This record gives sequence, structure tokens and C-alpha cells, in this order.
Amino acid sequence: MLAPGPTVLSAHKISKVFWMKDAKHPLHVFSGVSLSLRAGEMLALVGPSGSGKSTLLRCLAGLEPVTEGHVVLLETNLARASRSTLAAMLRENVGLLLINPPLVPSLTALQNVELPGQLAGRSAWSNRELSMRSLEELGAKDLAKKTPEQLTPPQAAKISLARLLTQHPKIVFADEPTGRLSTADSKLVLKSLLKLSAAGAAIVLATHDLHLASQADRVITVVDGSLGATLERPSAEEILAALDQTAYGDDE
Ligand code: ADP
Ligand code: MG
Repeated sequence: MLAPGPTVLSAHKISKVFWMKDAKHPLHVFSGVSLSLRAGEMLALVGPSGSGKSTLLRCLAGLEPVTEGHVVLLETNLARASRSTLAAMLRENVGLLLINPPLVPSLTALQNVELPGQLAGRSAWSNRELSMRSLEELGAKDLAKKTPEQLTPPQAAKISLARLLTQHPKIVFADEPTGRLSTADSKLVLKSLLKLSAAGAAIVLATHDLHLASQADRVITVVDGSLGATLERPSAEEILAALDQTAYGDDE
């Protein structure tokens, strides 16, 4: 085991409230959530649909503001950071695997994979080499010249994964990364996440996939907007048992 790395993410009593138009009451998605994560650690948030996993993940990643409390991501207090600091941090050090991967429609799949390296100033030649290797690793070389609109959702997920591999992020936020994928593609996702983790990246997952969650160093159950049990390296069965105890169970 490597010595624990520096803390890369901490949430301090964060809450999120949505004020919906026409609704009588505000929606309290989660409240009083505190957690922290070190470099190289993998954390999985599991819980029923609607429990607030995705919203929590977006708040931790700086994609959405919190209502109360604060998040420190890569030594930056997200509430106090300027837009440009935040944008640079997200671009360079934060990797995202989202359900609808934000691929640039005017670029080919390969150019999308090359984007982080290009923005980081990597030489065009080594960037192409690295990007092609990532595509090859994922069995997606034949997608290189396609445009995002020609890709099926699982193919787009692969391109987003290849892009993540070339980015070398310090922290990855992945929302249901195996959600719509076949078993074979899910294995590729897991392999890629483990590779990034072995390279020192911290990983935060929101997932229904108990097999994937069981690969995490730490699993936290999210129930109705608060954190339930924290489990260290649990098996899939142990996660299921912890979810069952909440009387909600897994909904898929
Ligand atoms: P999960 O990922 O666990 O399924 P979500 O974080 O997606 O949960 O949703 C938690 C709750 O927050 C749900 O009731 C959802 O409808 C609500 N919610 C999520 N995003 C928004 C939004 N942008 N505006 C209003 N309500 C939202
Ligand atoms: Mg979700």
C-alpha cells in the first residue's frame, strides 16, 4: 500500500436546496454533508434513485454551487475562487465522466480525445500518439474519425473515457459511469478508473453498480440527502446489506 496522499477534496457541512418555480416548498436535496478524500483514493456514493448522488457529485466537482457550507477542491475553496481559476482547475486537473459526455460536436472523436492535451500545451505529435493509444486500449480506434453525432451512447462513453485517460487528471468525478454500458464495456470503465487511481488520481463515483462500488476504497450510502453508512473496502453483498438496512434498498 502506498502512503496516503494529500487531501484533494473536502466538503464542510454542505447543503443544497433547489427553489422550484411554483413549488410551495424548497427542495432540500442534501444537508450537512462532510467528507474528505486523499490522492489515489476511490470513493463510491451509492443509494436509491433520487437520493441526491448526482447533485452531490456536481457540487463536489464545482459544477454547481452549494447552498450552505463549502467545498475545497485541490486546495481551492470553490466558493471563493474566481471564474478563471475555477475554469483552469476544471480543465487541467479535474476529469469528468458524465452520463451525457460533453463532446465538442464540431470535432472528430480523436480531436475530442486530444483536447485536454492540446489545452495543456502537449506537443501535437505526442498528443496524437497518446490519444490513439487510449483509443486502442478501449478498442475504439475505428471511431477516431467519426463525429459525436455519429456515435451511439456507448461509443460516446468510450470517447469520453479515452479523453479522461489522456488528461491525467488529479481527481475524477464519475456519475453512473457504467450506467448504460454492456458488461464488456463496464469492465473497460473499471480498468481505466483503476489505472487512473494507480497513477495517483482520486476518484469519486456515484453509482448503482455494486460490483463497481465494491472496487472502491470507501463506500458511502446516500439516503434521502444525508450520508448513511461508511464502509471500508466492502464487498457487493455488504453494500447491498447496508442499503437494505435503510429500508429503501437498491432500486434497480
Ligand atoms: P440521484 O443521482 O441519487 O438519482 P439526483 O441528485 O439526481 O439524485 O436528484 C436528487 C433530487 O434533486 C431529485 O428529487 C431531483 O428531482 C432533484 N433535482 C436534481 N437536479 C435538480 C435541478 N436542477 N432542479 C431541481 N431539482 C433537481
Ligand atoms: Mg444520478
